[in-house]
Amino acid sequence: MRVAMISEHASPLAVLGGEDAGGQNTHVAELSAALADAGHDVRVYTRRDNSAGPTAVRMRDGVEVVHVPAGPPEPIAKDEMLPYMKDFSRWLVAQWRGDGWVPDVAHAHFWMSGLAGIAAGRQTGIPVVQTYHALGTVKRRHQGAMDTSPARRVGYERALGRAVDRVIAQSQDEVRELVRMGVPQSRMTVIPSGVNDETFSPDGPAVPRVPGRPRILTVGRLVERKGYQDLIRAMPMIPDAECVVVGGPPAGEVDDDPQVRRLRALAEEVGVADRVRLIGAVPREEMPYWYRSADVLVAAPWYEPFGLTPLEAMACGVPVIGTAVGGLTDTVVDGSTGDLVPPRDPTALGTAVRDLLADRVRRFAYAGAALDRARRWYSWTRTADQIAAVYATVSEVRRPSGVVA
Ligand code: UDP
Repeated sequence: MRVAMISEHASPLAVLGGEDAGGQNTHVAELSAALADAGHDVRVYTRRDNSAGPTAVRMRDGVEVVHVPAGPPEPIAKDEMLPYMKDFSRWLVAQWRGDGWVPDVAHAHFWMSGLAGIAAGRQTGIPVVQTYHALGTVKRRHQGAMDTSPARRVGYERALGRAVDRVIAQSQDEVRELVRMGVPQSRMTVIPSGVNDETFSPDGPAVPRVPGRPRILTVGRLVERKGYQDLIRAMPMIPDAECVVVGGPPAGEVDDDPQVRRLRALAEEVGVADRVRLIGAVPREEMPYWYRSADVLVAAPWYEPFGLTPLEAMACGVPVIGTAVGGLTDTVVDGSTGDLVPPRDPTALGTAVRDLLADRVRRFAYAGAALDRARRWYSWTRTADQIAAVYATVSEVRRPSGVVA
């Protein structure tokens, strides 16, 4: 099949770890590659954010990344992108109406891509599949007044859920949220993200460690909801261990970054500054070296639509201590591949990490079970097969699309 991936702000070619570049970029890159491996022809449409680069880039065999001119050709925050989605969809329509490459299905990632996709799909008869990656309702619940999403986001997300040909939810928690929003469960298929088990495996180089000092690793964009502050507050309960935080600005800009400063000041305040290292963003291909070097991965978000980093750690044979939120409640099996604790609770987190670090046998058992679970249930081949089956169904059975305001 010809598959049009629409990922307005998250390019599969982007450097990860910055504020708007993380799991969605990885997901789109890996899914596209796995679909291409299965013989599909994929084009990824993402907003053009610089004037110098080429319009289209071949990412690998079977995957082309197309930079769509919509809005200024410069980086803009994703929460500022909505006004340009009309241009984005017009451009897609013009492309797909030209006599070149016409997709069998469009797969939109994030709600704004969905708006562009459904508008273009309606005009061209191309079915649209939606993956949200994150939901405005959840974000608003946790961030309140700090949420900078456009005011109409939740309404658009609800309308999209009713208008697209199929919604792919990534976790059971997301299904519950969508149902609560008013999207019928019958319109959804649950297909989790995957993990690349060639890149992420226990075998291969690891970043050296200080002998005798256990390493706690935590990875992600340096945004408040990832809960790094809770881990730092837990560190006094975990003597001798070091905590490495991967993500945020590029390595050369770490010291000036406001989030890094905030977290370092907190580490200073609670007396663990000598044991907390914020190292900035790490290129995707070096991530396995960090996972392999860790005794435990901590993922302590306040909420998490899916959460790739726990899965990447598991695929490297590393146990996970996570908060019992969102996708983590599906991926991490409490008491088997890791432990789940309540969010925003440094004491519970500190206790769980301290106890696991003190128990080699349990760590070893968790590591084996984590590896097994990641390999067995979360390969990209499996995910791509399931998603391709959804594409096949929607392109066979076209439903009339609803109307999005
Ligand atoms: N990542 C990376 N380098 C970094 C920080 C993160 O390559 O410095 C990758 C990480 O390996 C994972 C993704 O970014 O693939 C983060 O995805 P996750 O779902 O955990 O969080 P999100 O960014 O979607 O909130």
